[in-house]
Amino acid sequence: MSGPFVKPPRKNPVLRTPRFNLPPAARGRVALGLTAAAAQGKFALQVCDACAAVQYPPREACLQCLSPRLTWRAQTGEGTLLAATTLRHSNDLYFRDRLPWRIGTVALDAGPTVIAHLHGDVGDAPQRVRVGARLDRSGQAVLVGLPYQESPHMADDRLMRELGSDPRFRKVLVTDGKSAVGQAIVRALVKAGADIVWVGHAEPWKKLDGLDAIAELPQVTLVPLDVGSERSVTELAGEIGGKVDIVINNAEVHRTFGIGGRRGTDVAKLEMEINYFGLLRLAQAFGPALKGRSADGPAHATAWVNLLSIYALSNFPSHGTFSASKAAALSLAQCLRAEMAPAGIRVINVFPGPIDDEWDQQVPPPKVSPQALASAIVGALRDGVEDVYPGDIAQEWLQRWRDNPKVLERELAAGGS
Ligand SMILES: [Zn+2]
Repeated sequence: MSGPFVKPPRKNPVLRTPRFNLPPAARGRVALGLTAAAAQGKFALQVCDACAAVQYPPREACLQCLSPRLTWRAQTGEGTLLAATTLRHSNDLYFRDRLPWRIGTVALDAGPTVIAHLHGDVGDAPQRVRVGARLDRSGQAVLVGLPYQESPHMADDRLMRELGSDPRFRKVLVTDGKSAVGQAIVRALVKAGADIVWVGHAEPWKKLDGLDAIAELPQVTLVPLDVGSERSVTELAGEIGGKVDIVINNAEVHRTFGIGGRRGTDVAKLEMEINYFGLLRLAQAFGPALKGRSADGPAHATAWVNLLSIYALSNFPSHGTFSASKAAALSLAQCLRAEMAPAGIRVINVFPGPIDDEWDQQVPPPKVSPQALASAIVGALRDGVEDVYPGDIAQEWLQRWRDNPKVLERELAAGGS
C-alpha cells in the first residue's frame, strides 16, 4: 500500500540541476487516437464497426475481419493481471533514472491483452485491475494498471506523480486573485496541499472583496502582477520565476457584445492585451525557468494551465470580441504546448462554458460555478489531462463542434440554443 507523499527536501542550490530526459515519444499516426482520448482523461480502444472486435495495439484494419472501419470507443479498462515484473535495468535514459520500474501483462475483459505500467498498490498476479490511459511526460498515451479498489494514498504513488501534476507540495502562481474564479482556484490549490500559492493582483491599491480572506491563508502570498504590462510580468518572473512549479493563467478581460454593439476598438484591444498578449508575456517570462526545472526531483516544475473559453472553438456573437481574443489565446497555447513538450512540461487548456460571474449575467443557466471550475482544474492537474471542458454547456458545445463545426456556427449565430 502506498503511504502518503512526504514533503521533498529543499533543493541544494550548489548541486547541478539534472537534465531532463523524455520517455520514448515516437508513435504512429493510428496510435495517436489513444493519445487524443487520454488527453481528455479517457481510455479508448479501436472497436470494429463490422464484427465488434476490440483491439490493441492500434492498427489500420481489424485484426479479426480486416475491415478498415474502426471507431475509438471508451473502455472500462477492467481486466486481470496475468503477470508482473520489476525492471532493474534499462538502456533508455528516462527509465534508467527511475529504476526499479514495475510493469505487467493484463488481459482486458474486452478482449485484448496489454502491457501496462503498474501502480505501487497493485500486488502480485493474478488479480483484478483497472487499466487506464494516461499521458506520460512526453505527452503520449501509456497504459497504467491501477488497483481495482481505490486505495487511500493512490494519487501519491510515484507513478501517479510522474504522470500527473498533483499540486501537493508544489509552488503555484495564480495570475489573478481578484476574480471569483481566481479565489476559488487558490482555495482549491490550498486544499489540495500546495506548498506556496503566489496570487497576482493587478491593482494592489484597490480594496477587493475576498482578497483579504485569501491573503490570510498561510500558504498564500499576494504579489503585484499586471499581465498587461511587460515590466510587471518580467519583474515578478525575476523574483519568483525560478521557484514556480505550476503556472495558472486565469487573468482575463471579458466584455459582452460583438462588432456592432459598441464603437471603436478600445474594449477589443483590452481583451487582446490581457487574454492574448498577457499569455504571450507570461510565457516568455516564466516559460524558460519552468523548462529548466522539469527534472528537479519529486516536486519538479510540471504544468502550465490556461483559462480559455468554449467560445474559443466557435464565435459566440453576443460575446464576439471576447470569443476572438480567446481563439487567439488558444492558438498561442497550442504553440506553448509544442514548445514546452521537449521539457516534459504539460500545458493544460481549460474551456469552460458560461461562468456564474458578472460577465455572464445575461446568459441563462446552466452555468459553471467558480468552485466547480477550480476543482476541474485541480482534477486535471492530478490526472494529467490536457484539455478540460468543465460543465454541461461546454460538454454540449464540444459535442456539437465535433459533430459539425458549421452547424454549430449557425446555431450560435442564431443565439446559441
Ligand atoms: Zn472486424
